[in-house]
Amino acid sequence: MIILKWHYNDELHKEAFGKERPITIGRSNSADIVLEGNAQVSRSHASLYYKDNQLHILNLSKKNPVDVQNSDKHRRLNSDDDAVLEEGAIFRIGPAQFQVVSLEPEPHDGELMVQCPKCGRYWPASKLDCPIDGWSLANARTVRWPLEQ
Ligand SMILES: [Zn+2]
Repeated sequence: MIILKWHYNDELHKEAFGKERPITIGRSNSADIVLEGNAQVSRSHASLYYKDNQLHILNLSKKNPVDVQNSDKHRRLNSDDDAVLEEGAIFRIGPAQFQVVSLEPEPHDGELMVQCPKCGRYWPASKLDCPIDGWSLANARTVRWPLEQ
């Protein structure tokens, strides 16, 4: 699970995404993360995807860059450029600033998971509070992965 947070238009967002398909970011309403109303953001601006067990970012925009910062290394991605995003990496798309908060391993079969009482997401039973909303998982319902239908 990929946990991202981002600032845009004075709002802070935090969301979790699965690793199984790319995450798209752009001005288009069909993007997974929609950044509305700024000409520095292209309709389809960037894609985050997993390859060889690493998180990558690809700049899909023909004219607008993506700025990436991994620890103290800064790199500007132009059209079709790609970079690996480490845990803690920061990237900028127009005026939006993103951070890769954490990269959580996918649950394996038989693993004990807890369900956050606030948002309903599942986390490894070792987590003390929900990475998204900070809710305590001390009294959360425990289930064995995968969920039975
Ligand atoms: Zn939660």
